[in-house]
Amino acid sequence: MYDTVIVGGGPAGLAAALHLAWHDRPVLVIDRRTGPLFFTLEKLYNVPGLPSVRGIDLQRQMRSQVEELGGEFLRASVVDVHGQEGDFTLVGEDGETWRTRTVLLATGVARYHPTVDGDYRQCFKYAGKGNLYYCPDCEAPMIKDLSTVVIGTDSADGAAGMAIGLSRYAAQMRLLVTNDSALSAERAARLEQLDIPVLRGKIAKLVGRRSHLDALVLGDGSQVAAEAFFVSSPTVGRTDLAERLGIEIAATGHHAQPKSQRGDTNVQGVWVAGDLRPMTQQVSVAVGTGNIAAVMIDQHLRRQQAG
Ligand SMILES: Cc1cc2nc3c(=O)[nH]c(=O)nc-3n(C[C@H](O)[C@H](O)[C@H](O)COP(=O)(O)OP(=O)(O)OC[C@H]3O[C@@H](n4cnc5c(N)ncnc54)[C@H](O)[C@@H]3O)c2cc1C
Repeated sequence: MYDTVIVGGGPAGLAAALHLAWHDRPVLVIDRRTGPLFFTLEKLYNVPGLPSVRGIDLQRQMRSQVEELGGEFLRASVVDVHGQEGDFTLVGEDGETWRTRTVLLATGVARYHPTVDGDYRQCFKYAGKGNLYYCPDCEAPMIKDLSTVVIGTDSADGAAGMAIGLSRYAAQMRLLVTNDSALSAERAARLEQLDIPVLRGKIAKLVGRRSHLDALVLGDGSQVAAEAFFVSSPTVGRTDLAERLGIEIAATGHHAQPKSQRGDTNVQGVWVAGDLRPMTQQVSVAVGTGNIAAVMIDQHLRRQQAG
């Protein structure tokens, strides 16, 4: 029986595990290693106290800090969770089970990649490693003074909004819409005003060297070359376990809604943290929400023990 089982070993789950392990709580982090920082070789410039840290190094350092304090880790995928405050059971995909008094869900979000000749995996070579970016809040300054293409995979208006917002960083901005989604008259007018050309077409091939993307080849054979590329695509919270527990889903439809800024939820004994919550996706925010949830969990368990 653990005091807390944390599902998700990204910055939110690890920050929470750090606090709980430091307070000598039996804590287990279960992670299936699909979070962005496991693969992010590019440098992060906005993590306080850690200038120019690589995502993957940050992830490793946080994990070893937790392990030194006695926190446990397991590589597994949790497929079910049930029970109630004081006795929850989590179930892994191979049928293994873990029991715990409290649960913290820090399962993050899934990001959609553009498809290349129908296959989204071709982007893995460049995402988080080179010049193919996804998160304006995190990465917009990376395109400063570079010719940039925003690739719209979902709503054309959403992608236009991203191109307009990013145009203040880029030397030259273009928008590529890869589906049939229509642009509203307002967005089209604003793009024209800012001199942002709109291209349309499906991506047939990526041209690049190592992790650097040089150009997109479209279905009609034309090439769209640029120094940087930004993807506009949906980010969808991994809410499956939250839904199984009956946690309220946020108005975005894609995140778990905490009851308060402390990360507690409508289900007693369950907290949420990090990108799973409806807020901007940032390492510092994930760490902060993981930390506050852990402090609250520790206080909660202390109050229970006091009777
Ligand atoms: C390309 C890229 C670059 C970025 N650059 C920056 C940057 O420069 N600065 C910055 O501040 N932020 C950056 N971010 C954002 C930052 O990485 C996220 O905000 C942060 O990782 C969120 O942390 P988290 O712990 O909430 O979730 P995640 O890091 O996504 O971790 C969640 C973990 O939960 C695991 N998981 C989910 N469901 C299950 C399950 N059922 N069973 C087991 N495990 C499960 C996943 O495998 C994953 O490892 C970037 C993001 C991307 C995609």
